[in-house]
Amino acid sequence: MATGMLKPVYLRNSDIVQGSNPVTDYELLESVLICTSEIKCIQRNRGLWRIYVNTTQSRDKLLTEGFDFRNTHINVFETNPFSAGTNSPLEEVLRITIKGVPLSVDDGEIIKMLDSYKVSLTSPIKYENIRHPTTHKMTSILNGNRFVYAKPLQNGQSLPRSAFCAGIKCLIYHKGQPSKKRVPKCTNCWGEHWRTQCSDKKRCRICLKTDHEPGSEKCEAFVENQKNVISFAGADNPLSNFFPCTIHVFGIHHRSAEHAFQYVKAIRCGDLSKATAIQAAETALDAKMISKTIQINDEFIDKQEKLMEEIVNAKYDQVEAFREILDKQEQSTLFAESVFDDFWGTGLNKTGTEHTDHRKWPGQNVLGQIFRKIVSTRRPAPPRRSESVPRNLQAASQRHISDMLSSIRKSDKRADKQASTMQDHSRSPRKTMRTNRRKNAGYKNTDVNSLGEKPLGTDYDSG
Ligand SMILES: [Zn+2]
Ligand SMILES: [Zn+2]
Repeated sequence: MATGMLKPVYLRNSDIVQGSNPVTDYELLESVLICTSEIKCIQRNRGLWRIYVNTTQSRDKLLTEGFDFRNTHINVFETNPFSAGTNSPLEEVLRITIKGVPLSVDDGEIIKMLDSYKVSLTSPIKYENIRHPTTHKMTSILNGNRFVYAKPLQNGQSLPRSAFCAGIKCLIYHKGQPSKKRVPKCTNCWGEHWRTQCSDKKRCRICLKTDHEPGSEKCEAFVENQKNVISFAGADNPLSNFFPCTIHVFGIHHRSAEHAFQYVKAIRCGDLSKATAIQAAETALDAKMISKTIQINDEFIDKQEKLMEEIVNAKYDQVEAFREILDKQEQSTLFAESVFDDFWGTGLNKTGTEHTDHRKWPGQNVLGQIFRKIVSTRRPAPPRRSESVPRNLQAASQRHISDMLSSIRKSDKRADKQASTMQDHSRSPRKTMRTNRRKNAGYKNTDVNSLGEKPLGTDYDSG
């Protein structure tokens, strides 16, 4: 049984009425009952009938079988034919949803963007309303997403998930888009199948030879040492997300960066019970294990890097052991999470990471890149060589600006200690003032709904 309200199926009054004999809801009910008894509501609004049923199965049955009415077989529409611009229930339409474009951006910009992908629209741009999370009942308030109906794309083509509209990064969703979920990869021979299906010999991940592992002197990509590489892994290392430390982010105290990340993952993917379990998990490893069975959605995958950046920045602000290590590094330092994770890490263990040319690491090392970004943007400047009177006015004014900035930052930090608001990572004074305005306006992020979404959404729109 489905909970809440299912989407209705549709009928055009003009398709079922004959001559001047009007159709009543009772007459229609009698005919639909032959197909399914799970009817909740039959409602007419001018030229359109909506039939609401109780279960997904009966909705599917109605859509595939239709029903007989006044000796004619009737097919029902899956989407509102007047909205979708369809003429026959057999005509397929594709619903395309666009997220992340501020409501203030003109619809014309969205049409222009879809035009550039040669999408042939069958409806005008429409606006999505906020719905109740469990009953799915619609409210009158918009959620900022827009959608449009179009002819199905040719030859199984699909639109990119990430695109630009009026210079703003946005996300496009439609049925049939390839999912970013995992492609099989054998950890024995590195072919595209699961390890349990492997019949090959064990191979080096880097050069695919069979007589060594990555980091071995026999490997083509072997390097004796890489001066600027700091590899890290494991709960003992403050650089690791598994390092036990208290991080206050999104209005909640977490026991490690890993706890924070997995907690928000569970919330955003709608798994509240796992979120609670993750929050209470003793170790970061426990938190990670609990998260393994969360059904991750593509939207989360699209935003996970931004989320991690936010958490790591909070860790930099709040965890001294972590900040101290980062502050000591050069801009050229390559941080490398030496774990078998191809997105966050190098995809290699410690030996493999340190003794394989970094350009050959199979993983994207995204966590390491985030650390590097912090070192280049947030680390305090090295002490000035001389405090003597600046040589020219330009230098003097630059110094005043930098003093002003650091005092703003200090007062911002003090304010942050008092109010449990989100940390703002930007160093620009304009953004700092904006943050303060937000604080003054009583912005709070302690309610569950705003977990991560609001602050991230704000950043996202401006990017
Ligand atoms: Zn294999
Ligand atoms: Zn090799």
